[in-house]
Amino acid sequence: MIKTPIIRYLLVFLFILSILACSTPRQLGKLKTHQYTSPVDTETKIIDYQESGTYLIDGVGATNNFPGARLNKFDRINDSLYEATITPENAPINPSPWYAFKIWAKEERTLDLRLKYGDFWHRYDPKFSNDGEHWSKLDSTSVTLAADSTSATIRLDLSKDTLWIAAQEIQDSKRVGEWVNSFKNNALVTIGNVGESAMGRPLLHMNITEGENNHKPTILVISRQHPPEVTGFLAMKAFIETLVNEGAENGFFKRYRLMVYPLLNPDGVDLGHFRHNTGGVDLNRDWSVYNQPEIAQIAAHMVNETKEHKNKVLLGLDFHSTFQDVYYTPHESVKRKIPDFTKTWLKQIRVSLNIEDINESPGKGERPTSSAWFNRQFGATGITYEIGDKTPREFIEKKGQVSAYALMDYFLKLN
Ligand SMILES: [Zn+2]
Repeated sequence: MIKTPIIRYLLVFLFILSILACSTPRQLGKLKTHQYTSPVDTETKIIDYQESGTYLIDGVGATNNFPGARLNKFDRINDSLYEATITPENAPINPSPWYAFKIWAKEERTLDLRLKYGDFWHRYDPKFSNDGEHWSKLDSTSVTLAADSTSATIRLDLSKDTLWIAAQEIQDSKRVGEWVNSFKNNALVTIGNVGESAMGRPLLHMNITEGENNHKPTILVISRQHPPEVTGFLAMKAFIETLVNEGAENGFFKRYRLMVYPLLNPDGVDLGHFRHNTGGVDLNRDWSVYNQPEIAQIAAHMVNETKEHKNKVLLGLDFHSTFQDVYYTPHESVKRKIPDFTKTWLKQIRVSLNIEDINESPGKGERPTSSAWFNRQFGATGITYEIGDKTPREFIEKKGQVSAYALMDYFLKLN
């Protein structure tokens, strides 16, 4: 028993103080909100959770029982035709029907499988794999698109060996985590989590610099707000690998700090979503009032970290995929700290790739996207780096690499 009242009061006071300190997470402190001319409602919506399971119909098996899978229903239509129904997590939603499943047959047979999308259109060329790691595009003669594009029928040679079929190469949270961990012995790279998604998956982070973080101008890189956008992620991988390898040699990381968030929507990725998180929201419209936990925590981490270490954020890059390669850049009227970066960088990428046109699309940042937010929050140049769904993988890798070289060239010359 504590006898002295003053000590007892002091202990009670300290106890209350500790509760207050715990219940106000530092990272969700005073995050500045931003208003846009075209606001978007990002309040949490109800989503449909895909039922996971294995179908066995007349000697043909199919399963969605793995991270990244999407197969909402599997039916036999007749002897030679089966049907895979693919539906989104919620609607309205951007039309990017993602599918991924494993399929096999008790006895060797050729089968037509109809991918049926309901109100959506076929978007991704089917890929196949025997191990979930090495992927090839299905021959185009094996794919027949319906006249209204709401289904595509693929011809498959099945056997008892499991065949993986997917819209793009599967890059689930485990594989992204393995890629991040491959840097764990690199002296420049510090790996960590900045928090957790709604379902408790880690929000991965890599801090890359040589020595101290303090006072270094900083570049932010994010990816996978939209789960199916694997080609953008592949470009980001090549981009970061090149920066880490070359930036250790040329002095880049003596002067700059790089903060990478490679997987913003781990729940959506592992649940095989078309676009949203488990709040049924397009995360790249939530950079305004931060309704979704993934954006709230990552935005707070960027703000608090760069404030604590007195870093000026010069640039924010957000990797995505769409129908073609394109850079969404700030319009010349948008005020930013390095106004000549975009032109210089894109020109050098174009020359290095020996291509005619780099496909730049400038905008004024009127919607609550990450690229607009990088500018509003930090006065940085915000760029959405889009890779086409069908862009050849070797070209993606090359493009990621030359983007890294061109970026270092610019920043090493900067005073
Ligand atoms: Zn996207």
